[in-house]
Amino acid sequence: MSNILNLKNKKGWIELITGCMFAGKTEEFIKRLRRYQYANQNIIVFKPAIDDRYGQKEIYSHSRMNIDAIPIQNSEELIKVFNEKNKNKNIDVIGIDEVQFLDENIVNVLDNFANKGIIVIASGLDKDFRNRPFKNVDKLLVNAEYIDKLTSICHKCGGNGTRTQRIIDGKPASLDSPLIFIAANEKYESRCRHCFEEPR
Ligand SMILES: [Zn+2]
Repeated sequence: MSNILNLKNKKGWIELITGCMFAGKTEEFIKRLRRYQYANQNIIVFKPAIDDRYGQKEIYSHSRMNIDAIPIQNSEELIKVFNEKNKNKNIDVIGIDEVQFLDENIVNVLDNFANKGIIVIASGLDKDFRNRPFKNVDKLLVNAEYIDKLTSICHKCGGNGTRTQRIIDGKPASLDSPLIFIAANEKYESRCRHCFEEPR
């Protein structure tokens, strides 16, 4: 059986799933965690408490795949919950969705888990709506052993969607609109390099 301090089999690494919105990140995330689950690995899945689009205790992909997830406020709470669960049975795999919404300490926390022999699967947006690197994902792109950068279909031209355009009242959101906010009159589109409109 696995032991978190048993590194004989050199297990423990970080897998990052990233890209823009509508690229199927969550679906890939769930698929990968399920695969470890079928292989009888003890998995635990977290998500930032901010993301409660569909349900409190689950993560759903746009195609309605779902997996149980524990909502957490910050990296400190993640460690607390992990230690609690790990007491009963050693955890082999940690999943963390929307990692860009957590505090920046999460990068070190995930590094430590991987060093201790745990497989970490993180998912998150590589860029915000301004086309700037999103926190945490920027560092995970450097730290992770395995990276999958997924693309989507550009909403305008059908090309390769690599950017997320935030639309408010039918127009690209301005540069100073808050990074994280959910409004009824806002929506997101994936866009290619050429169709993306730089927010002003
Ligand atoms: Zn395009």
